[in-house]
Amino acid sequence: MAMLSMSMAPQTERVCPSCNGSGTMKCNVCNGSPRSRCPKCQGDGKVYTESGTYECGICEGCGYVECRNCEGKGSVNCSRCLGRGEIQESNGNSNGTLNSLQNGNFNWN
Ligand SMILES: [Zn+2]
Ligand SMILES: [Zn+2]
Ligand SMILES: [Zn+2]
Repeated sequence: MAMLSMSMAPQTERVCPSCNGSGTMKCNVCNGSPRSRCPKCQGDGKVYTESGTYECGICEGCGYVECRNCEGKGSVNCSRCLGRGEIQESNGNSNGTLNSLQNGNFNWN
């Protein structure tokens, strides 16, 4: 079950230099730290008012908020390769040479 075909990738595809082939980039909004302390309750999870103590409505009591840009993952899809990890290079005239070799130019007559 060796995946030999993996090493036979077309040369027109190469690893995306922006994400090194991972397909994701560090979120530039939270800088890879999607969980930050809730600005309203300062990480307490509760809000103290004159009439009592309430669960913080921003973080829903957990004390931190997640980055909305990356939805708490800390990374986003690479904008260059769109998460594929590799990019296609327009390689001009790469067709033709290989095809003529594979089809064979033998004359059996
Ligand atoms: Zn983020
Ligand atoms: Zn909060
Ligand atoms: Zn990429």
